Amino acid sequence: MINCDFHSHTNYSDGFLSPIELLDYAKSSGVKNLAITDHDTINALPQAQKYAQEIGLNLITGVEISASWRQYDIHIVGLNIDIKNPTLIQGLKRHQDFRAERAIKMARGLANAGIKNPYEKTLKFVKQGMITRTHFAQMLVNEGICKDIKTVFKRYLVGNLAGNVKGEWADITEVVHWINSAGGVAIIAHPTRYKMTHNKLKTLTQTFKNAGGKGIEIMTATTKSYEIEKMTHLALELDLVASSGSDYHGWDNSFVKMGRLKPLPSNIQAIWNYFDN
Ligand code: AMP
Ligand code: MN
Ligand code: MN
Ligand code: MN
Repeated sequence: MINCDFHSHTNYSDGFLSPIELLDYAKSSGVKNLAITDHDTINALPQAQKYAQEIGLNLITGVEISASWRQYDIHIVGLNIDIKNPTLIQGLKRHQDFRAERAIKMARGLANAGIKNPYEKTLKFVKQGMITRTHFAQMLVNEGICKDIKTVFKRYLVGNLAGNVKGEWADITEVVHWINSAGGVAIIAHPTRYKMTHNKLKTLTQTFKNAGGKGIEIMTATTKSYEIEKMTHLALELDLVASSGSDYHGWDNSFVKMGRLKPLPSNIQAIWNYFDN
């Protein structure tokens, strides 16, 4: 099987590595087909496409778009997208604007919780203009307020906690439309991370499919065997293609590495059959 990784982040969103560093790392890890899928931005891609060609790595254009479904924040990966498509660009712009507003509100919440100058301090961690909750988490770790990123999320950045602001993302149907308009393939990212019952996940997946969604991420760096089995079953039941991606962010203390994904089950249609290799 070809070594593929269809979910990764650069410092254009909340990854640590620059696009060039990420491509070098992917190549040296044995990855042959890579998708960069930054949160709500495709701005890393022109530079990445150029460099991928120079080093002979097959780069698939990608993005990970936040979406709303009922009270949940869902992530939809779009692969093989036309990065010049106006519908996609406009949609992402809307999310980028929301992120900028949300960051100001998050900072206000953190200031009320006693943290000094959270906005200014967090901006120091933002490398390419796009601000995420991860940047706030890095700041709070750096300030010595929490011991690691996971702890920050638990104490400040979810639910009704001081630093969280409810996501006002486009509806899942609309997000799938942006991806399809750009000629891409829409995939539900890390389906087992939403803390949903299986029935609810099935309803979500059905809604996604009715909207024109094509695939589901069966394999990530952290998916457990029983989850792989369950998601394979769901994909077969709803006739979805299977994707595989590490969700690599390049954080120092993470055990997630590139080039180490387990193969997809053989009874399922793999996404890479969609792309020219
Ligand atoms: P945002 O898109 O700005 O809401 O930030 C979401 C990002 O935060 C995700 O893509 C993850 O990278 C990160 N994240 C969310 N929850 C956690 C957690 N519990 N621990 C570490 N990182 C997390
Ligand atoms: Mn992230
Ligand atoms: Mn995600
Ligand atoms: Mn991701």
